[in-house]
Amino acid sequence: MIKIALLGSTGSIGVQTLEIVARHRDEFEIVSLAAGGNVRAFFQQAETFRPRVATLARDRDDIACPAVKKDENGFYYDYGDATRCALYFGEDAYLEAIIREADVVVVALVGFIGVRAVLKAARMKKKIALANKESLVVGGSLVIPAVEKAGVELAPIDSEHSAIWQALGFDRHAPYEKIILTASGGAFRDKSAEELRSVTAEEALQHPNWNMGGRITVDCATMVNKAFEVMEAMWLYGAKAEQVEAVIHPQSIIHSMVEMKDGAVIAQLGVPTMEVPIQLALTAPRRLGTSAKKLDFKSIGALTFQPVNREKYPCFFIALKSMEMGDNYPCALNAADEVAVAAFLKGELCFTDIAQVLEKTLQRTERVVIDGEETLVGEDKKARKLAKEIIAELNGKPTA
Ligand code: NDP
Repeated sequence: MIKIALLGSTGSIGVQTLEIVARHRDEFEIVSLAAGGNVRAFFQQAETFRPRVATLARDRDDIACPAVKKDENGFYYDYGDATRCALYFGEDAYLEAIIREADVVVVALVGFIGVRAVLKAARMKKKIALANKESLVVGGSLVIPAVEKAGVELAPIDSEHSAIWQALGFDRHAPYEKIILTASGGAFRDKSAEELRSVTAEEALQHPNWNMGGRITVDCATMVNKAFEVMEAMWLYGAKAEQVEAVIHPQSIIHSMVEMKDGAVIAQLGVPTMEVPIQLALTAPRRLGTSAKKLDFKSIGALTFQPVNREKYPCFFIALKSMEMGDNYPCALNAADEVAVAAFLKGELCFTDIAQVLEKTLQRTERVVIDGEETLVGEDKKARKLAKEIIAELNGKPTA
C-alpha cells in the first residue's frame, strides 16, 4: 500500500489523483488531505477516503458542519463510527498535512505556496510527486539541493516532464543532449495578436485539449506555463537553458521529447490525460492499467509543429527573461503572474496587459539572492504588492 498525503485535493490534479486511488484501492491509501476553500467537496472527499489528518485554508468560524468537533487535542472530524480525523484550519494549515505516516506527498497546490510544502516534505524525507511547477520556478535553487540532501525521489506529474522522465527510463540524472517540450498553444492559438486585445476570461478558460484549473489554463493561453515548464525541466533534469526548446504541437499527442547524443529522439505519445502521469509519479517504474483511451494511429492524421511566435506570446519570452536574470526574478515573475491572472479572471485586467504587468514587475524588482525560505516568502510578498500597484496604474487608478 502506498500511503499518500494529497495537498490540493479539491483541484483538477487533486480530484484526478483521488479517482486513481478509488480505482486502485489495493494499491493506494489516502492518509491526509489538504484543500483551500471548497468545503463541501472537501468533506465529501474526507468521508470517502477517511484520511487521518485534513486541513482547510479557511477559518474554523466559516464552517458550519455538525461533524466538526473540538476536544482538548484540537479540532477533529467525527466519522460517526468512533473514528476521527484531526482537522487544521488557516492559510498555512496545508503544511500540517505532511505527516509521518505518508510515503509520498502529492503537491497539487496551485501557486507559490507549493514551494513551502515541497521543502517541508524534503525535510521530512518524503518522496514528492510534484504537480506544482511553481515550486521549482520560484525556489528551484532551494528545492533541488534539499531533495538531493534528503535523498528522496522527486517524481514529476506535469505531463511534459513525465514524458521526459519516461524517455530517460525514470532516471532524472540519465544523460541526454536536448529536451523538446511540446505546447498546445492554449485557447487562443488560432487568434491574431490584434484579436487577443478583446478576449474574455471565459474564452481563456476553454483549453482546446486539457481540462485544468483556472490559473494554469490562462497560463497556457499566455504561454507563461510553457516558460515555467522550461525552468522546471532545467531544475529537474539539470539542463542548461540552450538544452531546452519549446515547440507548439496543437494536437497534444506527443507529450515531449528527448534528443540523445547520437541524434536519436525519444518521444512519449498518448491521448491528452493526466491519469497516466499522475499514476506513474506514484508507481514508477511499475505501470498499472488506466481508464485512458488508447491512441488510434490510423485516425490521428498529421502531427504538426510550429515555433513560438514572439508577437503573439510575449509573456513566454518575458518569463524566460526572468530565468536568465536569475536570483529572485523568477519568484517576482511568478507572483506578478498570479496577481495578473487573478485580476484578468475577475475582469479587472485585459488579457494583453498581463504582459505589461510581468514586464514592469521585473523592471521594478531589485535583485536579491535567495538564501532561504524566508527570503523567498518576503520576495513573493514584495512582488505581489508591486504587481497590484502596476495593475492599478494600468487601470488609471491611484495606488494606495
Ligand atoms: P486547481 O486550481 O484546480 O487546484 C488547486 C488546489 O489547491 C485546490 O485544491 C485548492 O483548494 C488548493 N489550494 C489553494 N490554496 C490553498 C491553500 N492555501 N491551502 C491548501 N490548499 C489550497 O489547480 P490545478 O489542479 O490545475 O493545478 C495544481 C498544480 O498542478 C499547479 O501548479 C499547476 O501548474 C500544476 N499542473 C496542473 C495540471 C492540470 O492538468 N491541472 C497539469 C500539470 C501541472 P480549493 O479548490 O478548495 O480552494
